[in-house]
Amino acid sequence: MEHSIENYIKNLVRDTIGQALGGLQLQKDRQTYVVGNWKMNNNFSGTAEFFQEINSSNNVSVVVCPPTHLLYPAQLLIKQQKKSIALGGQNVHWADRGAYTGETSTSMLQEMGCEYVIIGHSERRQYAGENDEMINMKVKQAIKSGLTPIVCIGETLEEKNLLQTEQVLKTQLFGALKEIDSSQFIIAYEPVWAIGTGQSASPELAQQSHAYIRSVITQIMGQDADTISILYGGSVNEKNAADFYAMEDIDGVLVGGASLKAKPFDEIIAAFAKGEQNL
Ligand code: PEP
Repeated sequence: MEHSIENYIKNLVRDTIGQALGGLQLQKDRQTYVVGNWKMNNNFSGTAEFFQEINSSNNVSVVVCPPTHLLYPAQLLIKQQKKSIALGGQNVHWADRGAYTGETSTSMLQEMGCEYVIIGHSERRQYAGENDEMINMKVKQAIKSGLTPIVCIGETLEEKNLLQTEQVLKTQLFGALKEIDSSQFIIAYEPVWAIGTGQSASPELAQQSHAYIRSVITQIMGQDADTISILYGGSVNEKNAADFYAMEDIDGVLVGGASLKAKPFDEIIAAFAKGEQNL
């Protein structure tokens, strides 16, 4: 797979120097992301206000995922304001085109300026009946079309209480990444019990799951797993964002509620940008 030897050497050098300096983590090699998922919220005037107020950052990739009808106006606003913000869809179909009423294709998302797409959000797994097979078809279609999928995985509260978190994550990862021969994807770990509840996972617990997720991706695709950005999602806000940044395997955040208004989202971006500068 592409870049694997280069990344292997880079990581080896970084780890060796880091160990020599007493276990210090020298650099986050992976791309850092702050992604906002607006879900079924906002309107034209709210979108205009948001893109006027929001600041982009050179250190962090900022992605905003508005509902479908706001993508095109968002694209125009971003261009007009010359901001370095990317757009993502919240869902996509696995077919190129055809008789799929109510669906959106990858080329439609791209025509509206999208470079990313969220796939397999737990809300879609719950109410739209999305399963690992459908999610895998969508991931393949996104990668084939040149969109970067942000693949969401995570356990429910019941699964957590039954100590099934690792099993659930493993099944979802093997399902979503089946026959994927590319490292052009992002994983978002979103424990279902933390989404929209105000009860985020502790950074330490999230780190534990992220390290496990990376070990499973290594089983699936080998050393390239080191290059995959893994984001945490679930009640991230401007107060707790920096604590997640501090964790070794947390390469960014997927933010719901706190991405709806420019101010808190801006503060989350600033927390990650500051973290990058300090490395
Ligand atoms: C989400 O929906 O992906 C999410 C993380 O929501 P919230 O930040 O509101 O918990």
